[in-house]
Amino acid sequence: MIKKLSTKERMALQRTKMPELDPQIRSRNFEEVNQGLNEESAIQEAQRCLRCKNRACVGGCPVQMSIPEFIGELAEGNLVQAAKILRHDSALPAVCGRVCPQEVQCESKCIRGVKSLPVAIGYLERFVADWALKNREKVREEISPTKTGKKVVIVGCGPAGLTAAGELSRRGHEVTIFEALHDTGGVLRYGIPEFRLPKEIIDIEVAGLVEVGVKIECNVVVGKTLTLDQLREEFDAIFIANGAGLPQMLNIPGENLKGVLSANEFLTRVNLMGAGRNENVATPIIKGHHVAVIGAGNTAMDCVRTARRLGAERAMIIYRRTEAEMPARKEEIHHAKDEGIEFVFLTSPLKIIGNNENWAQFLRCQKMELGEVDSSGRRRPQAIPKAIEDIPVDVVINALGTRANPLLTSTAPELKLNKFGNVEINPETGETSLPGVFAGGDIVRGGATVILAMGDGKKTAESIHNYLRQK
Ligand code: FAD
Ligand code: SF4
Repeated sequence: MIKKLSTKERMALQRTKMPELDPQIRSRNFEEVNQGLNEESAIQEAQRCLRCKNRACVGGCPVQMSIPEFIGELAEGNLVQAAKILRHDSALPAVCGRVCPQEVQCESKCIRGVKSLPVAIGYLERFVADWALKNREKVREEISPTKTGKKVVIVGCGPAGLTAAGELSRRGHEVTIFEALHDTGGVLRYGIPEFRLPKEIIDIEVAGLVEVGVKIECNVVVGKTLTLDQLREEFDAIFIANGAGLPQMLNIPGENLKGVLSANEFLTRVNLMGAGRNENVATPIIKGHHVAVIGAGNTAMDCVRTARRLGAERAMIIYRRTEAEMPARKEEIHHAKDEGIEFVFLTSPLKIIGNNENWAQFLRCQKMELGEVDSSGRRRPQAIPKAIEDIPVDVVINALGTRANPLLTSTAPELKLNKFGNVEINPETGETSLPGVFAGGDIVRGGATVILAMGDGKKTAESIHNYLRQK
């Protein structure tokens, strides 16, 4: 029996801390760092929520999830109801509970944050979603929609594609996903490491889709194996959700030396192909002792923490601005510091210097200082004359971001793109310049977030459904 608390008692409750693995131990293995709340602490945290009338937290969520409602059910111990609310709003709550930047979204707007700390919405989402994964039969909704006989194809099996597949299949359409890689999940599998997002969660979500009849074909590169025109002939509608996986280059001398990798290559080899953990894999990876990761976003943090786990003595973030401007999640920065990651701020790479055998040996850097505020509202870094430093390295990882991969779009010249190579859509419907061809997620937005990709998948599935009904 859960004790009802007065407002005063609820206000007195302190934010629950997330239990974490010991940094000394976890920095040498790939186990999940955040261990999750137990039921007692989750319910206590849920009791901190004031169920505010104006639902400020909802305004901070890119997909307007029913946050006070699911937390309200949890606070009363109604886990089935809480899980159903979450599942209605989000296709992948166990993923979002782990990787969404809540501190700049829902939690940044939470009213409890004004006088103390915001309600730990992300921890609660994760708790309820994990509970639901373990109690699937209790939350399963038996839906047997009338089959429409319409065939939809989805290009790409990341969060946008997976979400759209679920939504379309529950409306009775026949859904096929074509995925270029040999496994599902997109960035969730090949990009985000196991210590932040266990692959088991993606496996369960994908299995759920297959159970309801979604067909998934891996190793199909649309634009190479099949063209968009071929898909248009065979299917009634197409959803392009192939992400933005093309690495941006550093464009500095020495980029082609051995030991210099893109973040995508490094993370894909480790996460998708098991390199690094086993010497006998088909695509092993160079395990650096002194690893420099260039960049300051989530991808850079994932790379540097992975390098540390692979045995690097010095695993460094090289960033031309300061910690205050780092785009990575605060939690990742905090975890990285605890794991012994070095942050080399106000430092901009000029050149990678190789040894006689063309292996990277030094990263030559320009030291910077912050100048005037620029158009982005941040103080612009500027070079300090003659302040040059050579940092010893054996591996350099470029984590400067990614762009749209032109593999598909270059084979479909009628598809309208913007100047960055992203697919242009009607923002209301998600439809591209080609009738019946829709797009969403990173291929439209450029590198964004999981929740935005999922939101696109959900909204566009609704548009595709309307399109098919009218067809
Ligand atoms: P993707 O996840 O990129 O999936 C696209 C899929 O399409 C891929 O599987 C790809 O192989 C496939 N594909 C590509 N081309 C073709 C083709 N021609 N034919 C068939 N299939 C194709 N966001 C967060 O919210 N929080 C985080 O903590 C976070 N961390 C991140 C860490 C890393 C390392 C990276 C790279 C990104 C991170 N992001 C994070 C961003 C987030 O993962 C993406 O915004 C999101 O995955 C985009 O989803 P998507 O479905 O549009 O594309
Ligand atoms: Fe609860 Fe905070 Fe949302 Fe108010 S703003 S309903 S306290 S989570």
